[in-house]
Amino acid sequence: MSFTTLGLSAPLLRAIKEEGYTKPTPIQKQAIPIILSKKDVLAGAQTGTGKTAGFTLPILELLGEHAKSKGKRSVRALILTPTRELAAQIHENVLSYGKYMPYTSTVIFGGVGINPQIGNFRRGVDIVVATPGRLLDHIGRRTIDLSRVEFLVLDEADRMLDMGFINDIKKILAILPKKRQNLLFSATFSNDIKKLSDSLLNAPKLIEVARRNTASELVEQLIHPVDKVKKRALLSNLIKKHNWSQVLVFTRTKHGANKLSEQLSKDGINSAAIHGNKSQGARTKALANFKSGDVRVLVATDIAARGIDIDQLPYVVNFELPNVSEDYIHRIGRTGRAGTQGQAISLVCVDELQYLKDIEKLLKRKIPQERIVGFEPDPTIKPEPIKKKSNSRNRPRNRKLDTKPNKSANNRARRRQP
Ligand code: AMP
Repeated sequence: MSFTTLGLSAPLLRAIKEEGYTKPTPIQKQAIPIILSKKDVLAGAQTGTGKTAGFTLPILELLGEHAKSKGKRSVRALILTPTRELAAQIHENVLSYGKYMPYTSTVIFGGVGINPQIGNFRRGVDIVVATPGRLLDHIGRRTIDLSRVEFLVLDEADRMLDMGFINDIKKILAILPKKRQNLLFSATFSNDIKKLSDSLLNAPKLIEVARRNTASELVEQLIHPVDKVKKRALLSNLIKKHNWSQVLVFTRTKHGANKLSEQLSKDGINSAAIHGNKSQGARTKALANFKSGDVRVLVATDIAARGIDIDQLPYVVNFELPNVSEDYIHRIGRTGRAGTQGQAISLVCVDELQYLKDIEKLLKRKIPQERIVGFEPDPTIKPEPIKKKSNSRNRPRNRKLDTKPNKSANNRARRRQP
């Protein structure tokens, strides 16, 4: 099947061709015709399935169906996504796919100056990609008019709920026009997602490309049992022995990410860390250096890594297993993307065996294990409880809507960034 049969017009087909896409991915095959038929959609799809094009292409097509109104442009499509990186990447896609169309778009997220964003709104935009915190700041300042929104996308909705955005989302929904098309994308379907979709979607069409809560089949998963103190040496050893380039490594904490990145650099492996305590500039630079190959290993926390989009990322390493099993699926979804084989390797110490059990329960299968000679775990070491990090899931969820710009709103937006 080619893109030409999906009902997209020539300017989009031209942009798709220039992107080098020859055929639609499964989510695109399903989602594009349904969205074009103006139905609400509930889609179960992980990052890496091509879901961004799955919603962006038909929205661009539908925007063209209505006669262009004269005068100032108004926001007609609103795409909400949990993190800055994801917002930036979606916006890049909107620009690429829409480059032969007459629409303007902008991306807004916290951690950067608000004035240029206000300037963009003043000039008028058709499509806005936003993180909820900064969008609420604009709503509070009355610098954005959402009264003409026709399309709403909630991207990575499960992650937005995990990050405590539910009340922000509700506040945003409350000011949108009632008549609009809603598209909800989520990698997993928890009860909270079901509740949100029940309240938001109108007779939605359900699309599921990867089976519920299952990891991409293109990802080869492997566990190396190892003692905690030997993990770093094992990781350096694996990277050097197999001559891995472009490895994304996950740690549970920001401090752990920094420490590991420093240690790897001392081992002669060029690496950088990204997490919420890094400035936006530092994160963008680290990601660019990783993409260009100057940085071989990118060490990231779960939330910071969300939405990192690097084509054909070959290796993902769980230096520590996540304490939330769904995060394992999100993590390994960074590899084996859009039809290429990837490898996800987890270094698991005795403290993490319960996490491993939970993950295997969610996956409904055992992950193969391989002991590496010289790094076999010491059977006499007893498990110790893992200290729970204080992350966004533990943050209070019932914040008040700020109706005017103030310091706490800005701090809040900053705090919530991964
Ligand atoms: P996403 O799931 O939207 O994050 O997309 C994952 C990656 O797949 C991105 O790098 C896209 O550029 C790429 N992609 C999306 N659609 C296609 C397609 N039809 N063919 C090849 N690559 C694609």
